[in-house]
Amino acid sequence: MAMNDTPADNYKDMEKKLRNRWMSPKLPENVRWTKEAIEIMLRANGYCEYCGADIVGSPEVFWSCQYDHVLPKDHGGEEDYGLNKVLACAKCNSIKRKRLPPDVTKDEMKSMELPDRIAAVRPMVLELRRKQRLIEIYANFREVLELRRAQSNGGGR
Ligand SMILES: [Zn+2]
Repeated sequence: MAMNDTPADNYKDMEKKLRNRWMSPKLPENVRWTKEAIEIMLRANGYCEYCGADIVGSPEVFWSCQYDHVLPKDHGGEEDYGLNKVLACAKCNSIKRKRLPPDVTKDEMKSMELPDRIAAVRPMVLELRRKQRLIEIYANFREVLELRRAQSNGGGR
């Protein structure tokens, strides 16, 4: 093994091949990845940048992940992926939508770098997900218990 043939060099090489392979102009439009999408996926190490879900944990999670504007476009959020775009699982992205955190203004967000923007938005996303989970548990129990009660009452009440 040569001195420079370290695992680190090996993975840099693999990353380069991945970029070349999936950004290739020879690929049809619907298969080709953009530089932006690849760079965000690699920067995030394949984890949702809000909840930490493993995006490469299953094909379903991988193919439903999205790229979220931390500061929403409607509030002046930039397209720059190094400043305002993150890898998000479908659950985090769908619950966040165009919300701003309650304690940070859009102007304050604008003056922040990406890691601070993520830190400002993450607690809000996690809290929204927690509330959604509580409602789902409640609704699921209610549905089952209502059916049970209907059964044991012979359909009455
Ligand atoms: Zn997530």
